[in-house]
Amino acid sequence: MPDDIPIFVPYLGPEVEAAALEAIRGGWIGPGPVTTRFEAEIARVCGVGEGGADRRVVATSSGTAALHAANLAVGIGPGDEVIIPAFDYVAGHQAVSMTGADLVLCDIEDATWGADPASIERLITDRTKAIVLVHFCGVPARTDEILALARARGIRVIEDAAHAFGTLDHGRPIGSFGDLTCFSFGPVKIVTSLEGGAVITGSADEEDMIRSLRVLGIDSDVSAKYQRARDVQYDVLRQGYRYHLGTISASIGLAQVALLDTFIANRRSYCQRYAAAFADLDAIGTQDTDWEGVSPFEFVMRLPDQETRDSLMKHLRELGVGAGKAWIGAHETTFYRDCRRDELPVTEAVSREALIIPLHSVMADETVERVIDGVRSFFVGS
Ligand SMILES: *Cc1c(COP(=O)(O)O)cnc(C)c1O
Repeated sequence: MPDDIPIFVPYLGPEVEAAALEAIRGGWIGPGPVTTRFEAEIARVCGVGEGGADRRVVATSSGTAALHAANLAVGIGPGDEVIIPAFDYVAGHQAVSMTGADLVLCDIEDATWGADPASIERLITDRTKAIVLVHFCGVPARTDEILALARARGIRVIEDAAHAFGTLDHGRPIGSFGDLTCFSFGPVKIVTSLEGGAVITGSADEEDMIRSLRVLGIDSDVSAKYQRARDVQYDVLRQGYRYHLGTISASIGLAQVALLDTFIANRRSYCQRYAAAFADLDAIGTQDTDWEGVSPFEFVMRLPDQETRDSLMKHLRELGVGAGKAWIGAHETTFYRDCRRDELPVTEAVSREALIIPLHSVMADETVERVIDGVRSFFVGS
């Protein structure tokens, strides 16, 4: 029996090991110049500063921290409403409820599995202060349309781009345009810094706020000096959090970003191979993409119904091929069941019909073939 193929495998090769060791030997664990270098690399990947656009990157301790800080930087709090897809990772929902604001749940659309602009529009009230988008599995949501409808009403848009580091939307990197864009560099993400995240914003005020929020509300300039000379005067400006990113994490993140082009090219080619291998199987649907320009996070199939999804999942697991479900809608959880919401037919269908199969940054040919054979054998026998 060959080894099981997990759904996710982090790339932890020699470059990553060397970066971790170098950081440890450097003797400084807290945030510092390596964190600043990681921010500069995130900026490079996301096209920040290209075309003269003045945008900024702030690294954080996780994607959840990035989303929470982004919500706070927009000024969200009790009494406000934030429209967010019911189909998001729990972290996106929690980042809103942490502020005390009310979540309002919109549906997703069939094509991208991202927020449906028409559903968002139906939910807007004069309490709406922000809209959250998710670029599911790296496939861009309909950002331009949603930005346009938000800007017409003075509402900020927060992109949960945890799946989309390195994705191009109409040729522009995600993070190079828009309002606030949040990334995750957590354990399963395409680039991992063990734990980590980042916010990109085009607003200097929001940047200052996020820099202060991530160091316990301390005036951010002072906190940098405070590491070295403990006699510096500091001020506490607001309620803050411990959301900074340390040197060892940033060093691992830098080693990973250096490999990102290869990771993306590999993942894209595996997605395209899966799609070609399943093209004759009418039961298998995917997001509407050819993966060109996409930095693919997961390969997710949509089956005709829950029963087929569950049987295929069981079949794959018996063959040692990892397979898992996608998210359930927030309205199906205890904590968020009473949120105001639109009708959520696509969310409900996708959460029952979606199946995630293995996608890694580096996969052997035989591994890709085993996944393909596993799926095909369910439909056409082996
Ligand atoms: C991973 C993820 C997050 C949270 O990021 P962490 O780094 O795990 O805190 C948020 N949203 C989505 C869509 C994610 O996949």
